[in-house]
Amino acid sequence: MNLNLPFTKKRMPIFFFGHGSPMNAIEKSDYTEMLSIIGKKIPTPKSILCISAHWMSEGTWITHTKNPRTIHDFYGFPKELFDVQYPANGDIALAERIQSVIKSPQIQADNEMWGYDHGTWSVLKHIYPEANIPVLQLSIYMEQPGEYHFRLGEALKFLRDEDVLIIGSGNLVHNLRTIDWDRNAKPHDWAVECDLWMKEKLLARDFKALVNDATKSQAGKLSIPSPDHYYPILYILGAAYEDEKMRFEYEGIHNASISMRSISFGMI
Ligand code: ZN
Repeated sequence: MNLNLPFTKKRMPIFFFGHGSPMNAIEKSDYTEMLSIIGKKIPTPKSILCISAHWMSEGTWITHTKNPRTIHDFYGFPKELFDVQYPANGDIALAERIQSVIKSPQIQADNEMWGYDHGTWSVLKHIYPEANIPVLQLSIYMEQPGEYHFRLGEALKFLRDEDVLIIGSGNLVHNLRTIDWDRNAKPHDWAVECDLWMKEKLLARDFKALVNDATKSQAGKLSIPSPDHYYPILYILGAAYEDEKMRFEYEGIHNASISMRSISFGMI
């Protein structure tokens, strides 16, 4: 048998990015540098599917629009941030393929209800500044438990072999009530504790604990007061293969209560 095949089909890596402040979209830092480098390192995807913390919904929805709008879903930031546009095309055919492959749960077409929120464009602006790759967003069905989001991540796994880049965008630790506007403020003890607990569980590949136990400790309750920024990682864990390499692309806590930990699976 000839094992030297003339080509090897590459499986797309997957990412969870802590996105933090919307200002990261227009600032330069070691964090945004990490995003830019990833864009240059990975194979160019055919399309991108982003699960962003900022699209919370009843039911699971997918963007189904030719030219999704850029949504500025925040207040009190400079005009420069409101001027940002991310004019990537949508991918209606891919949205329909995902709908037809995943029968349960039902994924509904949004038909222009949504667009690209800053969970998506604040990271993609650094990874693909030219906005020349089509993008889809998938919503987060907030009433569902962690298991639902993990299973849906598993169901989306097939896209990795179809040159689709799957990105989860949220923050593992995210408490806006205890935020310090100084980005380099000393992190709260509970934020450090919870971030480290997650790091350990990721290294041990204990996805079950990450799906079910993240808010069982006092530190977890303070770090995840609402699961919107946590759920996107569960899609990425669901779409990961057991034997593939996991890497922390970025570590650190910004603004005392926001973990910027960013994770890849399948980076060579
Ligand atoms: Zn956010």
